[in-house]
Amino acid sequence: MDRSTSGDDDLLAQGVRAFVDAELVPHEALVERLDAVPDELFRDIQRKAIKAGYYALNMPEQHGGGGLSARERATAEIEFGRVSRALGVICNRPAPILKACQGDQVETYLKPTIRGERWECFALTEPGAGSDARAIATRAVQDGDDWVVNGTKQFITMAMRADFIIVFAVTGVDETPKGAQKRITAFLIDKATRGVSVTPLDVMSNRGMKSCIIGFDDVRVPHRNILGEEGGGFAIAKTWIFSGRVMLAANCVGLAERAMAIAAQYANQRVAFGRSIGSFQGTSFKLADMATAIHATRLMVFDAASRMDAGTITQRQASQVNLFGSEMVGSVTDNALQIMGGMGVTKDLPLERFWRDARVERIWEGTSEIHRDIIARDVLREFRA
Ligand SMILES: Cc1cc2nc3c(=O)[nH]c(=O)nc-3n(C[C@H](O)[C@H](O)[C@H](O)COP(=O)(O)OP(=O)(O)OC[C@H]3O[C@@H](n4cnc5c(N)ncnc54)[C@H](O)[C@@H]3O)c2cc1C
Repeated sequence: MDRSTSGDDDLLAQGVRAFVDAELVPHEALVERLDAVPDELFRDIQRKAIKAGYYALNMPEQHGGGGLSARERATAEIEFGRVSRALGVICNRPAPILKACQGDQVETYLKPTIRGERWECFALTEPGAGSDARAIATRAVQDGDDWVVNGTKQFITMAMRADFIIVFAVTGVDETPKGAQKRITAFLIDKATRGVSVTPLDVMSNRGMKSCIIGFDDVRVPHRNILGEEGGGFAIAKTWIFSGRVMLAANCVGLAERAMAIAAQYANQRVAFGRSIGSFQGTSFKLADMATAIHATRLMVFDAASRMDAGTITQRQASQVNLFGSEMVGSVTDNALQIMGGMGVTKDLPLERFWRDARVERIWEGTSEIHRDIIARDVLREFRA
């Protein structure tokens, strides 16, 4: 256990780790082979997570969630990060943006999701709009008490499993001091609504999670299904963006620790030229750099999470921890695989999967370039005369 955590955090980490090791890790190879979590297994894990109190830890207690602080969530997230995402995500969820549910939405969407009866996915990215999220072209046009949505979303994780979709669409144009800007609104759309289609994509990272294309063809959504305010879609998305970035880095710590442990054990056992390969500096210094980078990320994660709890985290700090954590796990999994030599690239060991899974961390919660851009702009602003 790491010294950057308190006694209570240590207990939480131990509990989640024991759950992950007993209930999730044994199924990793199956999920990897099938590129899916079988329904029965999915329900079994979900039921056990709810019983153990490790489901919807991030959601408000008054609605049945765990009500954890960001610091506590980071503690749990590190442990969930050790296992294949397709399995971890069964417990470690839902999207925090659902806290914006109000009125009937609380009973229809939020509470059933916290109870594990419903499942959401988050649909912002489009074929023509990723980093430049304001470029989205999906439109919603008001028609009586409904909105009619048309467009295409891309790379939407878990859309196969979801039964409703948090969809961002353009609902008009606002004149602002910076010029005309699209009004962007978030909607809660039931996947079974006529006109919604879902097509899975084949991606190399996180097999079993399935990223998808979602089509919206004249999909009618009642006005009451707007999440937040009409035109306020980005404002609510931004409220939770820091959480996504900090928790991504926490996840990276868990995966990196597991990769390092496997590589270090191998370095102790594997003999070459009559010595353990761990006695060669070419190997041992890699381990030293891994341990140092993992520890640094851990400290950054808990610093950022504490700032989230205090309400003082900045965009730059959230980008820094995301950038550092995602690049750290890329480097650690790559070096761990290198220490394993040829064994590292075989499918008999999980290292090649860790390496593939780590790769997407530098892309999906904002690319490394976008994070560097945010950080650099803030540094330049700070030192402007
Ligand atoms: C596996 C996976 C799952 C995902 N899940 C979801 C999901 O559930 N929901 C969802 O909404 N989205 C999801 N995404 C989408 C993800 O958020 C985007 O892929 C990401 O924001 C990058 O957008 P893009 O892929 O369109 O790349 P682009 O924005 O087209 O970028 C391409 C390249 O150009 C660079 N670039 C772009 N703009 C700049 C700039 N200003 N300065 C410097 N470099 C720049 C980027 O860094 C990158 O290297 C997922 C993506 C993946 C790969």
